[in-house]
Amino acid sequence: MPVQIADAESDNIGPFNRLSASQANTWDDCPRLWWYQNKMRLKFPQTPPLFLGRAVEECVCRVLMESPGIVFNTAPADVLSKGADHLLPLLDNELPSDFMAWCASRVDAHWPGIRDAMHAEWSKDARKSGNWHEYSMDTYRDMCVTALGMHMDEVTECKDTVSQEELTQWRDGDRPTIPAPDGRKNTGPHPLANSGDCTLVEAWEIARPWFVDPDAPQFSLNVIHPEHWFQGEYDLVYRNGGKIRIMDLKASRGGGDRSGNYVEQLRIYAMLWSITHNGQIPDALEVWYAGVNVRKVIQPPSSQEIESLESKLSDLWQEIKGSEITIDDCPPIPRPVRGYSEGGVKIDDPEEPRCSTCDWASLCPNGTGDDDLPDGGQHQPPGDIKVYELTPFGKLKPRVNIFCEVFSVTQVPEKPPNLTIQQDGGFAFVRIMVGESEGELTYPAELEKGDKLRLIGVVPSTNWKGELQLKVDPHARIEKASEAEDGDIGLFEFQARWNVVGRIAYTTYKSGVSKNGKPWARKGIVLLDESGRIAVEGWDNAWPSIFNTLKQGDEIAVLNTSLDAWAIDVKANLEKGSTLHVISRADD
Ligand code: SF4
Repeated sequence: MPVQIADAESDNIGPFNRLSASQANTWDDCPRLWWYQNKMRLKFPQTPPLFLGRAVEECVCRVLMESPGIVFNTAPADVLSKGADHLLPLLDNELPSDFMAWCASRVDAHWPGIRDAMHAEWSKDARKSGNWHEYSMDTYRDMCVTALGMHMDEVTECKDTVSQEELTQWRDGDRPTIPAPDGRKNTGPHPLANSGDCTLVEAWEIARPWFVDPDAPQFSLNVIHPEHWFQGEYDLVYRNGGKIRIMDLKASRGGGDRSGNYVEQLRIYAMLWSITHNGQIPDALEVWYAGVNVRKVIQPPSSQEIESLESKLSDLWQEIKGSEITIDDCPPIPRPVRGYSEGGVKIDDPEEPRCSTCDWASLCPNGTGDDDLPDGGQHQPPGDIKVYELTPFGKLKPRVNIFCEVFSVTQVPEKPPNLTIQQDGGFAFVRIMVGESEGELTYPAELEKGDKLRLIGVVPSTNWKGELQLKVDPHARIEKASEAEDGDIGLFEFQARWNVVGRIAYTTYKSGVSKNGKPWARKGIVLLDESGRIAVEGWDNAWPSIFNTLKQGDEIAVLNTSLDAWAIDVKANLEKGSTLHVISRADD
């Protein structure tokens, strides 16, 4: 619920440097875990339940957007595509006689499409793990219906208890400043307004919670702390009856350690609500475990608790995001695993240590790894007379600055122009991948042949014909300039090949079918060294067969790779002539 939107003038933190409830929880679980997942950006295995949970949430939200007062139970999933104002209210004899049956039918209208889209997304994920077909799709479909049953309890309660004042205001067309997403734009008396006692259709409309519109761009509906250091996104906020109830929907059964995090998450959301609503404390917090049909009630924090929570999180932001942090500041000291049974009921804590199920145990000193990470150096492959200098990741330079002249510019409607530049008789294509970054154009609006330019932070590469290309990503800029500046280089002066050494965090694999029907597959490895991380990627057939034996904790050198970058991510490409050498095995 975007109550507090970032103020571009005073926001010097930015969307990628804010704290979130999940980061705060990860830090509390284990500072070293946080380091691996947030500072090194290691992605834990992407299992089907992660994606199915998102599918359940989307399906529930799509049904909540609709109304039994305008949508037949048999209507297609895109019935609201032109907005709710285009649909006529159903006649009394057309209204559903059983709202729960209507909810179940609407789930069945939406679920197959959402489930299949999520399956496709999971299949494309280079870090996917597990087997999709081992999970019962019916179980997840049923969770959608269960969650809507919980919503129906709210609707029934609303029908029975709504005040005359609230009912009249709603009938007259009063809407909150930030309305629930219901597909309506028209103002004036509500088209579903009746007279006399509140009807169930009216109660559905009045009780409809605020939720994330599934069609809104990702993160656009976050609440941001007024000082910009924290952001979060509520699942469901019920506001009818003048009482604020924040609900978090979980497509799970609620057993296990993670249930402890959900308690903290909701308390943090209560803090965020209070800070963005003049100290108003939510009246209720609940976790909805759709897998077991349990609403777990969480005691809202007091104003003193909110104050201390805010100050604790502000200190945490300062400690881990507001200042330079190193691996040594993130000790491998996990908190004990907490015991919860189904429905998030607290039970005795289990004996098992957190490290026994940690995805990074073969990297971490508390598992079988150590902090003695590779740091450049030299490598001489067996049988090779050449000794290769290995560059630490922090010293790789995927970006260059170039002073040049526009050779040709072709305007493309709705897109950045096609640009060719020249310098001392050499030419290069400029590929402007993003036209705008942080609200500013990445290139001058007016460009013509002969203009002098500085390309700042562009990523050079050569295509298969040997032609030079310069990529403009969100971290690069093109500016008009009259002369070169210190550090600007010639067109062909960039270092085309690099040698690196690192410890394997994990391997990746993705495949698909190209537009011309050809199947393709790419493999990759994410490596860590003393100074950071990089991904090494290449076409399936470019990798030697030893790739299939690589495991977390093994150390490898990759020689003669080219570099690529996108924002803060640096990637090494396996090229013709690149070679891979195992330096050591985790098991040795
Ligand atoms: S292995 Fe243990 S100490 Fe290391 S990151 Fe994982 S949970 Fe933390």
